[in-house]
Amino acid sequence: AHQAALAARSADNLRSPICCILGHVDTGKTKLLDKIRQTNVQEGEAGGITQQIGATYFPVEAIRQKTAVVNQDGSFEFKVPGLLVIDTPGHESFSNLRSRGSSLCNIAILVVDIMHGLEPQTLESMRLLRDRKTPFIVALNKIDRLYGWKKIDNNGFRDSLSLQSKSVQAEFKKRLDDTKLAFMEQGFNSELYYENKSMARNVSLVPTSAITGEGIPDMLKLILQLTQERMTSSLMYLSEVQATVLEVKAIEGFGMTIDVILSNGILREGDRIVLCGTEGAIKTNIRALLTPATMKELRLKSAYVHNKEVKAALGVKISAPGLEGAIAGSRLLVVGPDDDEEDLEEEVEADLASLFSRVEKTGRGVSVQASTLGSLEALLDFLKDCKIPVANVGIGPVFKRDVMQCGTMLEKSPDYAVMLCFDVKVDKEAQEYADQQGIKIFTADIIYHLFDAFTKHMEALTEKKKEDAKLLAVFPCVLNTVAVFNKTGPIVIGVDVVEGQLKINTPIAAVKTNPTTGQKEVISLGRVTSIERDHKQIPVCKKGQPSVAIKIEMGGHQPTYGRQLEEKDVLYSMISRASINCLKEFYRKDVSNDEWHLIVKLKPLFDIN
Ligand code: GDP
Repeated sequence: AHQAALAARSADNLRSPICCILGHVDTGKTKLLDKIRQTNVQEGEAGGITQQIGATYFPVEAIRQKTAVVNQDGSFEFKVPGLLVIDTPGHESFSNLRSRGSSLCNIAILVVDIMHGLEPQTLESMRLLRDRKTPFIVALNKIDRLYGWKKIDNNGFRDSLSLQSKSVQAEFKKRLDDTKLAFMEQGFNSELYYENKSMARNVSLVPTSAITGEGIPDMLKLILQLTQERMTSSLMYLSEVQATVLEVKAIEGFGMTIDVILSNGILREGDRIVLCGTEGAIKTNIRALLTPATMKELRLKSAYVHNKEVKAALGVKISAPGLEGAIAGSRLLVVGPDDDEEDLEEEVEADLASLFSRVEKTGRGVSVQASTLGSLEALLDFLKDCKIPVANVGIGPVFKRDVMQCGTMLEKSPDYAVMLCFDVKVDKEAQEYADQQGIKIFTADIIYHLFDAFTKHMEALTEKKKEDAKLLAVFPCVLNTVAVFNKTGPIVIGVDVVEGQLKINTPIAAVKTNPTTGQKEVISLGRVTSIERDHKQIPVCKKGQPSVAIKIEMGGHQPTYGRQLEEKDVLYSMISRASINCLKEFYRKDVSNDEWHLIVKLKPLFDIN
């Protein structure tokens, strides 16, 4: 009996799990959320579903009703008091539900459009879920778009499927198999939820339609099942406050406010709180704990109801003095009677500092800027995986001072004079300054798009360097002169290429021994500005090809055939240490083995070690 009492007490003490919806744009995240909120409203009864700040609360009674079609024998037992679903779908909310690097989101619904399969943001969401070790199910949404689908509103999926024609069932099966394969390619095993024997090992796929409501009962039941099976320990109610700032917003009549998800404990009016701000820790007292007014209350006066205290799990708006500069994604701590406020300040500042300290020790790297602590963390994790070094980190809109900081890289490592900005605005003056200085600012609201932009930028830089290197690159060649058409200014001669390849722009030299001093002498002729065969310009003449007429020009005073030069002098491309390095860096593929050997042979002529 004692055991049973204990068990009952601990079950009583389970708090509501917090659920986030993620997925690619247009997969139906918002619509699904609307649909689960609305069914009961249509039936003229809200079933206790409450609109909170940034979240909707579904008491277990409402969920019991909504899942009745798939729990007709009542065999599924509900243990949690309800479910808190975050209202703004997408990875921003998910990223901001964080505490000391772990997620406050207990469970997630990843929405996939069954007609489109896995899309870019799906992959990004999966990465976030994997990084934060958040259990999730997949809603394979839009099943009503399978050709010929016959709907039964709000029905359980299995029943609806069994009523479809053979061809619809076959199309469903095909799309399901494609999806499973795509998940497999991402390293996830997945199964149709009622064929899934291990929720721990395989992701459950639940087919849904946000339009007809089919599969939504299955989805809700599955969410509760997964939380109850996998995470009762993390859902134990604790008295210690655990809360995170989801959004920072100015509200008329309240000034700056923060929208907070309280995942554990109790918040009271007047509580002393500490959170992260752009200028260090913010310490203030809760002036008001606000939740949205219901329809009835709305007629009174304010859009908000004031609460003396609120208990987890819920979403609440906090009004307090001094919240300017508060950072979304930051933890919110309450100063208890035994707490030292300074310790708590240090704690929240460390949250920010730990992200800011994740920069390259060499000081060489790109600058990153994100809107919130959560998105900054996600971005840094991602760049680390991509091995893109980060030198500067910032939160909030990009201002000139951020660009100036990035600009220090122009000296140190110009390739990294790049700002990767996630989900933030760029101030006009900042952009102008960046344009002037040649600092690239890339903005995106999908993290990996920043990676793409950066990769393209790096490729373009390499291309440009290759272009710049054209004059510096010297391909090796050895030429025999067969005719002299013009002795000097410019030299025009006929030559055979006996080694290597002769390209336009190649600098040419003869190497002779001075008859009086006996010293080796390098006589530079200038650069080849034209190569002609049969009166046609050609860009290159290779070893063994028929003779060509070439023109060699020089800026200064050019040597003359019959004086410094003789027809029998062998001519060489004039290589240097720099030209060899340039070939190695940009043209390695274009230089044959024989030509590398030739370079080695030519080196002593030009005293290159
Ligand atoms: P979100 O960007 O993921 O929030 O997607 P929305 O909820 O805004 O939905 C995008 C579009 O898909 C809208 O036009 C919806 O009406 C439509 N849509 C969403 N779910 C379904 C569904 O289950 N079936 C069909 N046929 N259309 C859907």
